[in-house]
Amino acid sequence: MTKRPTYAVVGAGFSGMAVAVQLLQRLTSPARVCLINRSLSFGRGIAYGTNSPSHLLNVPAGRMSIDPDRESGFIDYLRGRGLPYRAADFVPRSLYGDYLERCLLNAQAAAADGVKLELLEAEVLQLETLGVGEAPVLRLGSGRVIEATEVILALGNFTPKPPHTATAVDWSGPGLVNDVWAPGAAANLAPDAPVLLIGSGLTAYDVVLRLLDHGHRGPVTMLSRRALLPQPHREQEAPPTAGIVPPDFLNDETRALRQLREIRRLIGHARDAGHDWRDVIGGLRSHTPRLWQQLGARGQKQFLRHLMPYWDTHRHRAAPAIFKRIRQAMDAGQLTIMQGRLVDIVCAPDGPRVTWRMRGAAEPVQTTFASVINCTGPSSDLNRVHDPLIAQLRDSGGLTVDALALGLSVDTAYRLVRRDGQALKHVRYIGPLLKAQFWEATAVPELRKHAKALVERVT
Ligand SMILES: Cc1cc2nc3c(=O)[nH]c(=O)nc-3n(C[C@H](O)[C@H](O)[C@H](O)COP(=O)(O)OP(=O)(O)OC[C@H]3O[C@@H](n4cnc5c(N)ncnc54)[C@H](O)[C@@H]3O)c2cc1C
Repeated sequence: MTKRPTYAVVGAGFSGMAVAVQLLQRLTSPARVCLINRSLSFGRGIAYGTNSPSHLLNVPAGRMSIDPDRESGFIDYLRGRGLPYRAADFVPRSLYGDYLERCLLNAQAAAADGVKLELLEAEVLQLETLGVGEAPVLRLGSGRVIEATEVILALGNFTPKPPHTATAVDWSGPGLVNDVWAPGAAANLAPDAPVLLIGSGLTAYDVVLRLLDHGHRGPVTMLSRRALLPQPHREQEAPPTAGIVPPDFLNDETRALRQLREIRRLIGHARDAGHDWRDVIGGLRSHTPRLWQQLGARGQKQFLRHLMPYWDTHRHRAAPAIFKRIRQAMDAGQLTIMQGRLVDIVCAPDGPRVTWRMRGAAEPVQTTFASVINCTGPSSDLNRVHDPLIAQLRDSGGLTVDALALGLSVDTAYRLVRRDGQALKHVRYIGPLLKAQFWEATAVPELRKHAKALVERVT
């Protein structure tokens, strides 16, 4: 009797769920789909694991369908639950996790005869492949071993990298929070406690909302090198008008500053024609991988050094309701943003003592806070990730970390490229680490397309 093929998907955040759903839909002969996740919260990951109703999606509901070819998927699900959201609305992220669970159950129920889904709560600690073409073997923390026909790694977002400081800081010390997504992080703060957030991006917005929802009254300071804030979406966002970014936009332009100048010019023209700058930024999304790859290593480095914060705050926008609350907290004087650099943190009896240098100031200043929270966002620097599976793959040469430490390398079929340049035939990757190759690859509208393309290659 021939053995049924086993497709092992490691990680059940959005990417792993989208791959599992696609596999269940596409497989026509008996097979096993093993979806392995550290915890039983399938379809949540960091993004959709929050249960705060204030934590909203940063993409309108009408663009969050798991299926790139059926844009109404998420809206239909919400309406089916009697929640009359519209395509332009920004919905609580926890509802999106519910939706992903439902998609998986539906795909399981409709799968072809003999196509079975197995859900496993375990951490994958090791992936062994004898050679590039050999079947991979997974070793789980539970002691179980899975011999797979294909492995799809969907490992997602990693714990934030601690911010640079003059001396080594023990982030497990009192008042210090490095991983804002760890259960119970920043809980039990006194309502009047002064809090410092390192960073002023969407992670900092999440933390501010969490503090406000818990009745925090004390001052909250965001420290950021450029003091830029993620911009808001419009109240009613329509999809970018077709043609606002020409298909051959900036073909072959390899300089980051030239690209920026042209984007600004395009925004100027669009504004004259009655459009909003967001229409141009949205319209650039499908061009971004090409523009990124055109830059080459030198241009990409320049972009990261000089332009990234401006790009990120315009491209990764906040839901209007979230931005409004952030502004209200600023107007009320409770939330402030400081432009400067963190120098050091020392644990003192009355709380973490922070040394920081304000932009343009000759001397650093010292302030004591009740809590300091790292809001620099998930880390993609695989050289410094402590995750056992990543460490094993990295140290054994099973993956290639890109020169800018943005992620890893895959070939056109999403196969993991080893350090020796050969692609592992049966081990693929999907998730935010595709950023190294595509730049625009961390959100659902892109990841769902990658999931579909990956499964087409696998099946
Ligand atoms: C706070 C936050 C909010 C976001 N909001 C949005 C949004 O509104 N809209 C949008 O489009 N994008 C959003 N994003 C982007 C987000 O990256 C993607 O939408 C998507 O959630 C990424 O999914 P993922 O499955 O790749 O990673 P993750 O969601 O991180 O999931 C990875 C999963 O794999 C598991 N795992 C990892 N390693 C192992 C292992 N060795 N063994 C077993 N299990 C393992 C993890 O425990 C986790 O459950 C947000 C990101 C963050 C961080």
